[in-house]
Amino acid sequence: MKTLMIDMDDVITNGNFNKYIEEFMNIKIDMTKITNYEYVQDLVKSKKEEFWKYVENKDLYKGAPLFKDCYEVLKKLNDKYDLYIVTSYLWTDVIDISGKNLGYKYYYLKEMLPFINPSKYIFTTNKNLLNFDIKIDDKITNLEGADIKILFNRWHNINKKYDKNIIRVNNWKEIEEVLL
Ligand SMILES: [Mg+2]
Repeated sequence: MKTLMIDMDDVITNGNFNKYIEEFMNIKIDMTKITNYEYVQDLVKSKKEEFWKYVENKDLYKGAPLFKDCYEVLKKLNDKYDLYIVTSYLWTDVIDISGKNLGYKYYYLKEMLPFINPSKYIFTTNKNLLNFDIKIDDKITNLEGADIKILFNRWHNINKKYDKNIIRVNNWKEIEEVLL
C-alpha cells in the first residue's frame, strides 16, 4: 500500500481564519485579487496583539465546510492508500495558542472525516522530515521528497514557478482522476 500525505489547511478546508479577520477588521477579503501567501495575515499586522486576543478563544475550524467532493474522494483514497492527514499547527507569533489550535484541528478532523482513524493524524511543523510516496499540499516546498507531488491550486501558488513533475489540481475530482 502506498503512503499518502494529505495537507489540511487550504486542501481539506479553509477553516475560519479569514472569517475572523473579516469580522475583526470589518472588511471583505477578495481572494481572487490575492496572490501572496502572507497577504491575509498582513491585513492585521498593525493590530496584531488585539487580533490574537480576539481570536484566542475562537474555534478556528468549527462549522467550516469541507471543500467540495473532499469527503467522498478521501473516503475512497483511504481504502486504497495508507493515508495520513499531515498538518502544521504552530502559530509562531502566539505560540501558546497553538495547543488550542491543535485541539481544534483534532476535533474537526474527527467530526468531519470519521472514517479516518485519529492515529493517522500527524501534527507537525516540518513536513519535509516525512517520507511519503505521494504528497498533496498547497505549498510547493511541502511536496519535497515524494515520488508523486500534487499541488492543490490556491491563490498563493497560482503564479509560483515549480518543477515540471509536479501535478497541479484544481479540486478533489481532479485528485480522484490522478490517484483512483
Ligand atoms: Mg496547506
